[in-house]
Amino acid sequence: MEVVLEINELNKIYKNGLGIRDISLNICRGDIFGLLGANGSGKTTVMKVITGLMKADSGDVKIFGHSINTQYEKAMKNVGCMIETPESYPYLTAYENLKQISRYYDYIDNIRIDEVLDIVGILKYKNEKTKNFSLGMKQRLGIATAILSNPKLVILDEPLNGLDVDGMVAMRNLIRKLSDEEGTTFLISSHLIHDVELTCNRVGVIFNGKLINEDYTSNILRDYSTLENYFISE
Ligand code: ATP
Repeated sequence: MEVVLEINELNKIYKNGLGIRDISLNICRGDIFGLLGANGSGKTTVMKVITGLMKADSGDVKIFGHSINTQYEKAMKNVGCMIETPESYPYLTAYENLKQISRYYDYIDNIRIDEVLDIVGILKYKNEKTKNFSLGMKQRLGIATAILSNPKLVILDEPLNGLDVDGMVAMRNLIRKLSDEEGTTFLISSHLIHDVELTCNRVGVIFNGKLINEDYTSNILRDYSTLENYFISE
């Protein structure tokens, strides 16, 4: 099985002593990997460090075999991500926002932009300025931005945040469709057990900055009562 994302003994500790410790993890091609943990467990920190938004104290990350420390551009070439709240240009329309990003890629045409807006369910709002968008619509635009270039690895921080029930179902279907049809690999984070149960084939449980378990979703969920202990503070 081709390893797409390889994380080795990653550490990032903030000045207040919080952060992530000794995270090691392999994610394989086609996986929909869920990083599951309560608020404050370290999910966003993991995602920021592996995408180079934040520098690790120690450890290494390889994406498609390229280290983010020494070959950052190559490592990130086929990666799309949305970390924390999605940002957009508020005075541009949804379409113009994606058009702006498409300039970095010579193979993204106007049809692809419409296609992606349709995939995430906001095509009918394509000519509205994003300052008028609800949180759920911004979330959808953020995901559209992440998948626009048809990346092979997509990293999404809490992708279902801000979505209504229909939006959640649509987003799960979208993730599974891209995984099945395009072979896209996903790393997504969630603080909801049910979320990863419905979306992911593998799960890593993060608690107080440490990865305490990692396995197929069915194995992780087998001991549900132990799993729930990691969410008691919620
Ligand atoms: P959430 O779901 O609430 O976003 P998370 O699992 O993504 O949580 P992180 O945002 O990675 O968790 O935060 C991990 C821990 O580090 C938390 O206790 C958080 O308060 C702390 N933390 C995050 N960013 C900083 C920072 N810049 N300085 C100090 N502490 C931080």
